[in-house]
Amino acid sequence: MAKKPGPIDTKLVHAGRRPDWTHGVVNPPVYHASTCLFDTVAEFEAAVKNPNAGLYYGRRGTPTQWALQEALIETEPGAAGCRLTPSGVSAIAAALLGVLKSGDHLLVTDSAYEPTRSICDGLLKSQGIETEYFDPMIGSEISRLIKPNTKAVFCESPGSLTFEVQDIPAISAAAKAAGAVVIIDNTWATGLYFNPFDHGVDISIQALTKYVVGHSDAMMGCVMATERYWPRVERSVFQLGLCVGPDDAYLGLRGLRTLSVRLKQHEASAMRVAEFLWAHQHVDTVLHPALESCPGQALWRRDFKGSTGLFSFVLKAGDPALLNHFIDDMQHFKIGFSWGGYESLILPARLTGTRTATTPNFPGPLLRLHIGLEDPEDLIADLGEALERYHNAH
Ligand SMILES: *Cc1c(COP(=O)(O)O)cnc(C)c1O
Repeated sequence: MAKKPGPIDTKLVHAGRRPDWTHGVVNPPVYHASTCLFDTVAEFEAAVKNPNAGLYYGRRGTPTQWALQEALIETEPGAAGCRLTPSGVSAIAAALLGVLKSGDHLLVTDSAYEPTRSICDGLLKSQGIETEYFDPMIGSEISRLIKPNTKAVFCESPGSLTFEVQDIPAISAAAKAAGAVVIIDNTWATGLYFNPFDHGVDISIQALTKYVVGHSDAMMGCVMATERYWPRVERSVFQLGLCVGPDDAYLGLRGLRTLSVRLKQHEASAMRVAEFLWAHQHVDTVLHPALESCPGQALWRRDFKGSTGLFSFVLKAGDPALLNHFIDDMQHFKIGFSWGGYESLILPARLTGTRTATTPNFPGPLLRLHIGLEDPEDLIADLGEALERYHNAH
């Protein structure tokens, strides 16, 4: 059943629109700014004392960036602040560097996006911060891994490539009891389908590049945090010098206005495609958080308001070398990184080197799909033909 409009749809129309920023037009002007001018020395000195009170310097943003930040806060109630970063990866780095220091221990879900692991195993390691990866399905058992110097737990739910849904409230409770901060990568669900701050999370990041921008034409991330952690996160973003250009911020806000409508269509179409695959004789399993075959599906039902367009499926045992027969001749699914745009994408997903705590064992190749806004019947026909090509090549 397609979702009906709800309160979030009204919120998204008005969020971040202040008349003193827009001066009567619907959308905020795109301010291209580095230098901001002060009329008097007294005004300059007042601004130095309180640089976030108004225009100060381009790196701290203008109403173009502020409008998007304010609107994003409305999508994750409980956030005390939001900062834009030039990519999702820079948002992850800023969040981690904001709360960790040399000698600290960090727990990270084994299902984390690969570049997150790269930050942990590279940059953080070189700073003397130790990372330990945990089974995404660990739940409250995570308390067994918490050491006296464990300062943060990093979650991503559902996980990249394999889509395990995590028990965020249980993990948060265990982390809180030990005084560790909980960070989540909320890119898959966005604040519309999962509000981290209702589930015990302290810091939330998103790759806005994906669903918020929504049209595959800009790179951007954001970091939000509760009152308690916001000063540290804000300082980290500031000290790293992270900021985004006004044209990208404008595209982000434009995308956010239609996010709810787009997600409803991604959700409905992805469900149809996932169910088609689930019933198909050449498919071993489908890793879609709303299907029983996905680890943590009950947690998804308990905690999430919806599912989106990204999921994976596993082919029955076969020669991985024949995978090209499956993908190369597809009509609607294109091969490419990223997701969240209006176009459907397919990627052969390789887990080698991306798992250290758990090793999911699949009989055949793992494929990740992003279901775009095409007619799902066209996508199903495309996949049906690809499955026959793969099977007949055996
Ligand atoms: C793409 C992605 C990111 C990184 O976003 P970029 O804007 O490409 O840096 C982070 N987390 C997840 C889950 C992603 O899929």
